[in-house]
Amino acid sequence: MNKIQKFEKVLGVCCWGFIALLSVSVCLAVGPDFKIDNILAPDIMVIVLMFLLSIYNLVRWKYVSNKFVYTEKVFDAFRIIEVVLVSIFIIGSYQYIEYCILIVPMIFSSLSRGRKLSFTLLGISILIKIVKGLISYFLIDGYTLSSSGLLNHLLSLAWVYIVWISLINITSAFSEQNYKNEKENQRLVVELGEKYEQLEAAQNEIQIQYDKLKESNHKLEDTNLRLTNSIAEFYTLQQISEAIGSIFDINELLKFVNDVIIGVMGVNYSTILLFDHKKNKLKVHFTNIKDKEDLAILGDNINCKFLVDILESEKPILENNVVPDKYDFIKARIIGSFICIPLSSKSRKFGLLLIEHKNQNTFNKENLRLVTTICKSVSMAIENAELYASMQVLATIDGLTGVFNRVYFHQKLESEFNTARESGYELTLVILDIDYFKKFNDTYGHLFGDVVLKSVVQTVKNSLRSTDTIARFGGEEFVIILPRTSIKRAYEKVEFLRQKIADNVITDNLVSASVTASFGIASYPETSKNLNEIIKDADNALYKAKDNGRNCIEVAKDFDFNR
Ligand code: GH3
Ligand code: MG
Ligand code: MG
Repeated sequence: MNKIQKFEKVLGVCCWGFIALLSVSVCLAVGPDFKIDNILAPDIMVIVLMFLLSIYNLVRWKYVSNKFVYTEKVFDAFRIIEVVLVSIFIIGSYQYIEYCILIVPMIFSSLSRGRKLSFTLLGISILIKIVKGLISYFLIDGYTLSSSGLLNHLLSLAWVYIVWISLINITSAFSEQNYKNEKENQRLVVELGEKYEQLEAAQNEIQIQYDKLKESNHKLEDTNLRLTNSIAEFYTLQQISEAIGSIFDINELLKFVNDVIIGVMGVNYSTILLFDHKKNKLKVHFTNIKDKEDLAILGDNINCKFLVDILESEKPILENNVVPDKYDFIKARIIGSFICIPLSSKSRKFGLLLIEHKNQNTFNKENLRLVTTICKSVSMAIENAELYASMQVLATIDGLTGVFNRVYFHQKLESEFNTARESGYELTLVILDIDYFKKFNDTYGHLFGDVVLKSVVQTVKNSLRSTDTIARFGGEEFVIILPRTSIKRAYEKVEFLRQKIADNVITDNLVSASVTASFGIASYPETSKNLNEIIKDADNALYKAKDNGRNCIEVAKDFDFNR
């Protein structure tokens, strides 16, 4: 509630006082003997005034109490009503009261709103006064007032109005500046309000923009993170594919992959388990678990149903909330999360990759995807390596007889020769050639000839040690490498073989036949000094055996056993 409203309320209270005063004055005028005839016309006017003032005061009270309806126009209207009511109704002996009362709304308006409204009110009161004067002069007094009396009356009125004008001027001089300031303040408050609203709107806009910026920032951060992860992932995969291309030894490759996973993913443990198809069980191939007890527990429990099922189903498992004691293979170690991915190709199951972290909720789908991709590449590398190894084996084997071929023979002889020379022990080379085999083929056919070749090889193989090597040198010619064997010991062995071959009757499709073979022997260091020499010497000895009638043995350089 502002200051004017407060004054308005004070005025209201005064108004009730005034109404009370009027009622007392009416009562006094009527006297104790109340008769309708006793009530004079002025008293009726006062009663009507009391009644109208009471209604007006009630209405005004209601308006004043509500700050939203109490506007400047309402203020003006109240003042005009007051002036009109007081000017019309107060007459005769109440004239001085009228002057006193009329001055209240005028001074109030001049104090609150300046001189403009006050002079309007003054004008209204003068107008009513003139109308009232004319009515009383012509209708009530009946031209009784003398011209001097009228002049006196007008002069006294003029004095009153001059005093009023002066009062209004003085009070408005005090109030006008205040009013102007108040108006200015109000304008400023309104302007400030508008500015505040604009500021609030701007602030809201800034907040919206800030939220948008924050959201884009989050998105950017998210994208950045994903990009960083993708780069790390790409780098890891590049490292592994480079390794697959450059590391031919599968063990070395698996160790490298294990190390890369530990380094890139920051896991506590990474273990590669390979499936041993002969023993039909999983084995720890590489792991960074150092503690012997932990390793023993892992080794004892890796063939549990849980891990074997992953291998069988080829479905990876991501466990982020490991319940202690649920998985035997991690018993005694504190593990919160693990990923287990099968290492397998379309046709083969190679094993498992098990990566573990001490904390829970460590892995996400991205990690699983990356490790699965790594495992697929590694599985492919294992398969290729196995394929390469089997092809290499096939490339060294003779298709008909199943013994090594000439290529392998040369490699093996070289390595055995080097070992013999470095270690200082003997090495004997035997060349065996079937006698008259062309004729045999012509007689019995090539197919039977093949059977004979296989049978001769089997006879020789049966008598050899695991360290000895037999290879097909070409056609019906075979070579036997006998490491740590002297020429004498070799001769005895070859003589045994010669007899065995000669005594062996081979039967196929009701056809029975036997063959003989001639042998040439050379030995390091007894007959030959180097690799080429030992082959050449054994070959020469074989020629000699052929020259000597076949089905016999010749030693290189006519070696004398008795020397
Ligand atoms: P020699 O006693 O002088 O060694 O006479 P040979 O007939 O055995 O010697 P030659 O070198 O003239 O003939 C070798 C024959 O071995 C020729 C070929 O028909 C036969 N032969 C070579 N490879 C095979 C084979 O894989 N299967 C069969 N059935 N015969 C073969
Ligand atoms: Mg021959
Ligand atoms: Mg031959």
